[in-house]
Amino acid sequence: MILAALPSIDRVLMLGPVEALIAQYGRAAVVAAVRGEVDRLRTMLGEQGEAMLAEAAPERIAAQVAARLQSAAAPTLKRVFNLSGTILHTNLGRAMMPREVAEAIAAAATGAVNLEFDLETGKRDDRDRHLESVLVRMTGAEKATVVNNNAAAVLLLLNTLAQRREVVVSRGELIEIGGEFRMPEIMKRAGCRLVEVGTTNRTHLRDYAEAIGPRTALVMKVHPSNFEIVGFTKSVDEAALSALARERGVPLACDLGAGALVDFRRWGLPYENTAAAMIAAGVDLVTFSGDKLLGGPQAGLIAGRGELVERINRNPLKRALRVDKLRVAALEATLRIYSDPDRLAERLPVLRQMSRAAADIEVQAQRLLSALAQPLAGIAAVTIEKCDSQAGSGSLPSERLPSFALALRPCGEARKATARVEALSRAFRSLPVPVIGRVSDGVLRFDLRCLEDEQRFLGQLEHLRLNYGTTPP
Ligand SMILES: *Cc1c(COP(=O)(O)O)cnc(C)c1O
Repeated sequence: MILAALPSIDRVLMLGPVEALIAQYGRAAVVAAVRGEVDRLRTMLGEQGEAMLAEAAPERIAAQVAARLQSAAAPTLKRVFNLSGTILHTNLGRAMMPREVAEAIAAAATGAVNLEFDLETGKRDDRDRHLESVLVRMTGAEKATVVNNNAAAVLLLLNTLAQRREVVVSRGELIEIGGEFRMPEIMKRAGCRLVEVGTTNRTHLRDYAEAIGPRTALVMKVHPSNFEIVGFTKSVDEAALSALARERGVPLACDLGAGALVDFRRWGLPYENTAAAMIAAGVDLVTFSGDKLLGGPQAGLIAGRGELVERINRNPLKRALRVDKLRVAALEATLRIYSDPDRLAERLPVLRQMSRAAADIEVQAQRLLSALAQPLAGIAAVTIEKCDSQAGSGSLPSERLPSFALALRPCGEARKATARVEALSRAFRSLPVPVIGRVSDGVLRFDLRCLEDEQRFLGQLEHLRLNYGTTPP
């Protein structure tokens, strides 16, 4: 009987290399992996017979068990190279954080912290305290608080200030920002009645004036985020709108979306409304993201009039949307970097990447060209191309940042180009640190704007597995 050739589970467990695996992965995991492997062999021998006997050799089994354990232990959340050309790529985790922020997160993660504890008095304290004073200083607001993300901030603000009442919003700002976050839907979930004013392309101050009535709880302005209305357009600026809102005794809130804390013109980038400019213009409350232009962890920041922020803090939903110690540590460390604006572009990856000069990226492309072309010889032609990067996540939506890419054009018949470029991009995604580019028109492009760890990128090219050159897909 051929199955008698299979070693027992206990015998496999006593093999030297398998014992070493127990020390690494623990006995339970190894026993499960051995059992899985022996089951697989039993089925295979039963179906295919003697030809498979070599597979049942003890060393072969031990190697298979090691491979099973390794793949089961590999995290599914991996570091990748974002060469997509979109700096704040939501699918790739948005802002890359500075090293000092990572250190702050690690310190908070591995120990106990005074998250809600006053070291002076020994009494309970508020977790917002770690962030509020710096946010107040940076925005000019009276009070500030932080929740899980900006979507949560908007939901909480609406629910607190306008439940069962009306919110006046311009039709041109009723946006969907992706991931099912649609302004009208959020309003409904927050329990508010949406009152649309103006038209898609033009909204005037008188449109707001006519819509504000006794049931109005809030006037809201929303950053149009990932789209732009061009041509015959009109919107009302915050200063004019806040004057009207104040006159009518209704607060004005502004969802800034990407949320710049500093004026990006200093780094040659276009102006994006800063939280401070909005507060100075008379906006009563602003909300913005922590992991977009701010360059920190996922978070939703709310700043504005003291009395309104206090009402938000008393809403029971706040408890459900609050941030944990890791986020507090990360935000505190990120905001600290802003205290030295002269070195901000150097230290904050998002700003460093956004302000990186095209000429510098071109030099990097030239440096990498031959290193990439060599393993791809006969598989794909590699050239340097001009391209445009974008900020992403609805930040600076119409701004194109001139950049350079390595363009990979698969060799061979044109009619198989699509399959070949797919295979090529899959091969790069299969590297130890997957490389994510952008495919269009049968070409795989790697925008080098966000490539910082060049050595690691080059060092793993030897693992590139591309065999379709000889056996086309
Ligand atoms: C991105 C964005 C949001 C949502 O922010 P998250 O931090 O992703 O939850 C809300 N409003 C606007 C205008 C945005 O651009």
